[in-house]
Amino acid sequence: MKKIKLLLSVILTASLLTGCANMHTHQWSEANYQSPSTCSICGLTRGNPLTADFDRYQLKADMQLNAGRTYHTICSESEDPTEGTVTVTSVSTGEPSDISGYENQTVTLTAVFSDAASNAAGFLYNYVITDFYDIESFEASFRYSEGNIHTFTVNYNGQDYDKCHVSVTTGSSEWLRKNDVYEKTVTVTWNLTVPQGYDGIVVGLRNSGIDNSGKYFIYEYYNETDFLLFRVNNHENGN
Ligand SMILES: [Zn+2]
Repeated sequence: MKKIKLLLSVILTASLLTGCANMHTHQWSEANYQSPSTCSICGLTRGNPLTADFDRYQLKADMQLNAGRTYHTICSESEDPTEGTVTVTSVSTGEPSDISGYENQTVTLTAVFSDAASNAAGFLYNYVITDFYDIESFEASFRYSEGNIHTFTVNYNGQDYDKCHVSVTTGSSEWLRKNDVYEKTVTVTWNLTVPQGYDGIVVGLRNSGIDNSGKYFIYEYYNETDFLLFRVNNHENGN
């Protein structure tokens, strides 16, 4: 008798468990860059989040705060190669924005040149901004403004945020005498407004000598030696 009771309770439990799953039809959301497809009723997930473009195309945004890196670019009065040192010198994130649901983020980097080539023929630099998750949507949404407040849209947790904007300020020192060479420092600052907690903005410099004619997306002409990229609010790189 005891055995039968036990068996019955096992059957009952099993049928309750399977019955439970049949009590609703899962309502699957689409996967996004932060979350897999999720049932809005029971929270069950299936599959994985979407693959970020930086992973798909194997781009590296591996600059670390306060860690200088060698920057390969070209001279301005010749096309000779020249090298500088680029350092992300400050980052701030989580600053309140006037726009509800958004935050302000600021990144500053410096590029310092003092090699013989730059001393002889100056240097060129190009700054870059893109999105870690969806490069094509970022580019398609980006609106350059003469007023230096450029707007763009990113998707975060499945929601489009179309009130993002960035302004970029640049400055440079004179050529200053340092021992037997001259040294010049360029400073670039990005002032960003992005969704609260967003970790997808990538900024940095690229080699001005790259031939990207006829190419539109960074992954079409990226290579590791010609780009120095920093991902803002990525907790693995010290900011
Ligand atoms: Zn469900």
